[in-house]
Amino acid sequence: MFVHYLKFVEKLNISSGNIIFIASDISKLAYEAQENDIVFNINEFIDAITNKIGNEGTLILPVYNWDFCKNIPFDYNKTIGKTGYLGNAALKRNDFIRTKHPIYSFAVWGKDKHYLASIDNIHAFGKNTVYQYLIDNHATNIAINVNFNDHYTICHQIEQLVGVPYRYNKYFKGDYIDVNNNISKKTYSMSVRYLELSLSGDAVELYNEMLDKKIAYEQKIGSHTVSYIDIAKSVAVIENDILHNNALKQIQYNHNKARLFHQKLQLKEIITDIFSITRSISGNGNRQTLKYLKENYLGELKILEYSIADNPTIFDWETPYEWNIDEAYIEDENGNKIIDFKNNNLHILGYSEPVDITIPFSELDNHLYSLEDDIDAIPYVTSYYKTRWGFCITHRQREELRKNPKQLYHVVIKSTLNKNGSITYGELIINGYEDDEILISTYICHPSMANDNLSGIAVATKIAKYIYALPERKYTYRIIFIPETIGALIYLKENITHLQKYVKAGFVLSCIGDDGDYSCVHTPYNNTYTDKIVTHVLKHITDEPKEYSFLERGSDERQFCAPNVNLPICTLSRTKFGKFKKYHTSNDNLDFVTEKGLQGGFEYVKKCIDILENNNIYKIKTVGEPQLGKYGLYPTISQKGSADYTRRLTNIIAYLNGENSILDIAEILNVPFNEVLEIINQLIETNLINMAGKDI
Ligand code: ZN
Repeated sequence: MFVHYLKFVEKLNISSGNIIFIASDISKLAYEAQENDIVFNINEFIDAITNKIGNEGTLILPVYNWDFCKNIPFDYNKTIGKTGYLGNAALKRNDFIRTKHPIYSFAVWGKDKHYLASIDNIHAFGKNTVYQYLIDNHATNIAINVNFNDHYTICHQIEQLVGVPYRYNKYFKGDYIDVNNNISKKTYSMSVRYLELSLSGDAVELYNEMLDKKIAYEQKIGSHTVSYIDIAKSVAVIENDILHNNALKQIQYNHNKARLFHQKLQLKEIITDIFSITRSISGNGNRQTLKYLKENYLGELKILEYSIADNPTIFDWETPYEWNIDEAYIEDENGNKIIDFKNNNLHILGYSEPVDITIPFSELDNHLYSLEDDIDAIPYVTSYYKTRWGFCITHRQREELRKNPKQLYHVVIKSTLNKNGSITYGELIINGYEDDEILISTYICHPSMANDNLSGIAVATKIAKYIYALPERKYTYRIIFIPETIGALIYLKENITHLQKYVKAGFVLSCIGDDGDYSCVHTPYNNTYTDKIVTHVLKHITDEPKEYSFLERGSDERQFCAPNVNLPICTLSRTKFGKFKKYHTSNDNLDFVTEKGLQGGFEYVKKCIDILENNNIYKIKTVGEPQLGKYGLYPTISQKGSADYTRRLTNIIAYLNGENSILDIAEILNVPFNEVLEIINQLIETNLINMAGKDI
């Protein structure tokens, strides 16, 4: 049955003073008009709606466009919406205004249009957004010929407010051309789903529940379906769904490896999963390791290949060939394999050239490596820059073999050294509001050893998850998974100018999963912001902090802090490399690292990040001390601890001179950063202090 589009509007259940949000596909209405020789005049259609709600009403139409996420400039006056042409038609009219957010923007009309256009939100969803306005003002969501699944963006608003583990706030930076055609670089965010989760959410049940509860209802006008939802009332239903059932379960069933909450991510499980992979400074083991991280935890991880043929040198270094190995063993005259790389990949000297020979033990002995002072351990030995072959064995076994120096052995190494290969590394960039960056680097070049350095890989992964989950992110985080030394040099070669410009602090994560010390290696002069933060965190995380000078360097801080690089990077460890006996041996195994040790390593890095994210400078507004009681800050009941609290509070206030950062005050008071931050947050709430600046 044909319905004229103006008749259609007449039948809509809207009336004077309504606040309505319309999601629509009006092509069917237009098509029907055309079929009946009527010209579909979209402006007449819009006029009919605005006439119905009158000057006291407000009409909101979506003109969403995701180009800004793809680095395409947003032009306030020209960028059109991709959510139907009703909104785009409204944008052309003088009686509508566009709201500011470049991704989720709206064409708005009526009583509240100026207010809506004044909202200058960075996050697409959350407080102080058009969505929140719709909730607070009991707007009606009207869907014309579109499915609930395809249009009810309010769901994302609730997800944002509740905080869900399958989405995070992703910041996008790009050119923004404003209403007056001025271009500037701006940062906006929207919540997106983690790439590594395969989510097949279907919200039909949610909609049915709203229909049952009379929060939503449908109207048939001719062949058209119009759905009405009371937005404010829908909040509780969606919230309940998010908190109690469907969405979350679906994700877990779809992808059993994906760990949704960083809190629940088991560090030891990551290490166990990738322990047996043969890694080196290049080769398929590194690709496999990064692929594992990408598929299970870090969907946005970029796996990059540095071509050896195209880059024969890296600064002062020759680029090593790509090394891969399939087999390596030594067998006696009876064909018994006395050493087999398949049993433990530490048996092979890293970067061994291929060989297939039969030699007496006296000659083989020159190619063996063992530890006299740890006779049951297999040492980890490599020879990247001089071509050799060799095997690493326990000293006990070697001594046994030495008894028969004339015994013949068949030595087989099936390896390749490919000059046309590449060196693989991983890069994960998590944007924050600022362009300034924090570099977190860990290395992927060690074969089967747990603390050195699968612990670094696991902690970096969980830290990435933690950073993703921050509701606000000040800094941009650059987390890299590289082969030690050569990978750091490659990464510098590719990015040094950018890093020198933007990196404000950074950490190398090495040997960070045992139950021993908490330690760091400082920058050459121990004078950077990173040094200051690390010293503070160490002091409060353990009674015996181990701070090493740059003279005891050994990991990639060597490259990052070199004279012509000069980045503010400290290395963070539990027990520092070289300071534990199991270091670089087969005893650095899965028993050596513990979930507790790893979790301690994670906390260590996390505390550094919490300082970076929150270390601002505040100034007290009052002249003289504030009268605390007036602000509800003075405990009215005197109990144990309340005097301490008051003393702490007044001490902090005494140093809020607009020059000291929170970290400075924590140092002056000799208390942990977060304890000062807690009180600062209370002072912000009582409006007693002003932000006077940011850290560094
Ligand atoms: Zn090492």
